[in-house]
Amino acid sequence: MATIFDIPSSNTSAFPVPKYDIPDMDALPAELLSTDEVLPDVAEIEAVRHYTNLSRMNYSVDTQMYPLGSCTMKYNPKLNERVASLDGFANLHPLTQPANAQGALALMWELASSLAEITGMKEFTLAPAAGAHGELTGVMIIKKYFEEKGEKRRVILIPDSAHGTNPASVAMCGFEVREIPSRSDGDVDINALASALDENVAAMMLTNPNTLGLFDRGVLDISKLLHSKGALFYADGANLNAVMGMAKMRDMGFDLMHINLHKTFSTPHGGGGPGSGPVGVRDDLVKYLPVPVVMKDGEKYRLEYDRPSSIGRVHSFYGNFLVCVRAYAYLKRLGATGIRTTAETAVLNANYLRARLKNAYNCPVDRICMHEFVLNDKGLPNGLTTNDVAKRILDYGFHAPTVYFPLHVPGAIMIEPTETESKQTLDAFADAMLAIRTECSENPGMVHDAPHTLPVKKVDAVLAARKPVLIWKK
Ligand SMILES: *Cc1c(COP(=O)(O)O)cnc(C)c1O
Repeated sequence: MATIFDIPSSNTSAFPVPKYDIPDMDALPAELLSTDEVLPDVAEIEAVRHYTNLSRMNYSVDTQMYPLGSCTMKYNPKLNERVASLDGFANLHPLTQPANAQGALALMWELASSLAEITGMKEFTLAPAAGAHGELTGVMIIKKYFEEKGEKRRVILIPDSAHGTNPASVAMCGFEVREIPSRSDGDVDINALASALDENVAAMMLTNPNTLGLFDRGVLDISKLLHSKGALFYADGANLNAVMGMAKMRDMGFDLMHINLHKTFSTPHGGGGPGSGPVGVRDDLVKYLPVPVVMKDGEKYRLEYDRPSSIGRVHSFYGNFLVCVRAYAYLKRLGATGIRTTAETAVLNANYLRARLKNAYNCPVDRICMHEFVLNDKGLPNGLTTNDVAKRILDYGFHAPTVYFPLHVPGAIMIEPTETESKQTLDAFADAMLAIRTECSENPGMVHDAPHTLPVKKVDAVLAARKPVLIWKK
């Protein structure tokens, strides 16, 4: 795709560059003076067409499927966007007195209560702005809990299948990460856990279902083991798509957790916009939650700041409120049965795709999955790799799945279809993946040199990393 500077000049500039009105140009430092022509010399219609055509090259969940594992790129109903843009929500000033913001506080209180109901936790804070921020908040709570008990525990256990933000949050909070291996069936190696567990361990962070999309069948044993040593059990609940309305994290023995509203609860994920990572805790950890806390007295709502054991503030004001509005609208519209059906459909869709693909591609752990599953490139002929398949699927009009994650599966291809795709779309995706598998044997060059139909062809990723061009110059 040409840049706007490459459009031949029509000598009818849409925007004539105004003359400098600085009296003494010579007084300016030389490096501030640009000698380049900075605006392209095109007519308005050329500029409009250029940018409109560029925008039509976008890929989005509103145009095509996004089979991106670990990120839940599902379709988010437009109604929820509409609700979040209502004047009373969108233009509510964060310094409005609680007496004049009763509706907003009621929404936050009800949303937090719904999340508590879905997960079995006692109370939730809506303050954290993302999943990783929720983890940090959770680890700060863990730290405070042991500080108050007068115990110096320095280690947090993390399985090798964990999302990268887990060890990062742990390290940011001053804890040491100890990695626990997974078994070949995808579950945490409970013997390795037992030998890594000592009086120095503050907690374990576990994602369940894990990043292979598998429900860890040993979760209750893990919980018992941790609690027997006085350690806490933290759930990374970034993706609740498989378990909401089906199983509660508290019933699995978790003591605290975060949820990504921007994956499961109707805020588009991955668009670079704001997120929300509410944190929920069991009874005795409630006092550590960040302030302010929305409280309900009779029919009135207020904000409570006076919480002596609180970890303090983790965000300005009350978090990303409009993300909470979307989640609230989503939950209200679905109701308890809708939430359950959503989870059931997400799991069904993932297992349908898994069943269609698992004989064509290697499936490292072949068992019923939750909302996502992992294949890899083991045994692909002609030296072809996950990267080649991921590039070739673009030619078929699909976004690539998540690749090379989780890290403990070499050449991973991680697929999450979500509940919002129809059987026709799932079949079209499966057909494309199967066609590519046939090409791998019969026409390997086609796969290796992909993509063929996109404006940018196969890029030299090594060159781009070694010699990055960071400034575009005409
Ligand atoms: C996405 C994700 C996170 C991090 O969430 P962010 O909002 O991107 O910070 C953490 N854990 C898991 C399992 C995730 O999928």
